[in-house]
Amino acid sequence: MIADRLKSILTQIRLAETAYNRKPGSVLLLAVSKTKPAADIVAAYRAGQRHFGESYSQEALKKQRELGAFDITWHFIGPVQSNKTKALASHFDWVHSVDSLKIAQRLSDQRPSTHPPLNICLQVNVSDEQSKSGISLSELPQLCEKVAVLPNIRLRGVMAIPMPEENFELQRHPYKALYKAVSRLGYLRLDTLSFGMSGDLNAAIAEGSTIVRIGAALFGGRE
Ligand SMILES: *Cc1c(COP(=O)(O)O)cnc(C)c1O
Repeated sequence: MIADRLKSILTQIRLAETAYNRKPGSVLLLAVSKTKPAADIVAAYRAGQRHFGESYSQEALKKQRELGAFDITWHFIGPVQSNKTKALASHFDWVHSVDSLKIAQRLSDQRPSTHPPLNICLQVNVSDEQSKSGISLSELPQLCEKVAVLPNIRLRGVMAIPMPEENFELQRHPYKALYKAVSRLGYLRLDTLSFGMSGDLNAAIAEGSTIVRIGAALFGGRE
């Protein structure tokens, strides 16, 4: 079941790459396994998936202990609280949801010296919703410059969770703006645009996404 869904999502990604003149293989599928058991991760892994995303540190650490023997790249995509940065810095390869200098600084300070730099993305609030976390587009350049110089993290790019829209053109709109903002920061050599979920995969890929984050469409719905 999971293997079949994985195959069909990968096909959809490859088709969108072709349709929007993206380089074949330039979009990475991040399998979002939050709330799902380690056995589901194993099923996807056996079908070839290597990148997994989690949103709750406690739950993720438990699964990581169970899956210690697997060659998994772990991405954290949930809200980052200060008291969780040490666990994230020690147990993840990526954190997509950094939205302040303070959090970035803590992740850099707490990254074990035995590990390579932690890959991070700054979360941008592209829909300007009061409730959602993330910095505004106008804050992006300044925060990027401050975060880029921290020693034990590597600023890779940006992450966004826009307000859900049904219409394709409306879905593209915030991504286009974000792509443009990141393009202006060329000197920082950012290579990652983490956006696109089940409902707006094509729009995200059309606008330059390099990581799409898919949960329910792969693992089934959550409670
Ligand atoms: C849960 C989650 C996803 C995946 O959402 P689905 O609707 O399950 O595909 C992607 N990104 C973030 C940040 C999430 O929290």
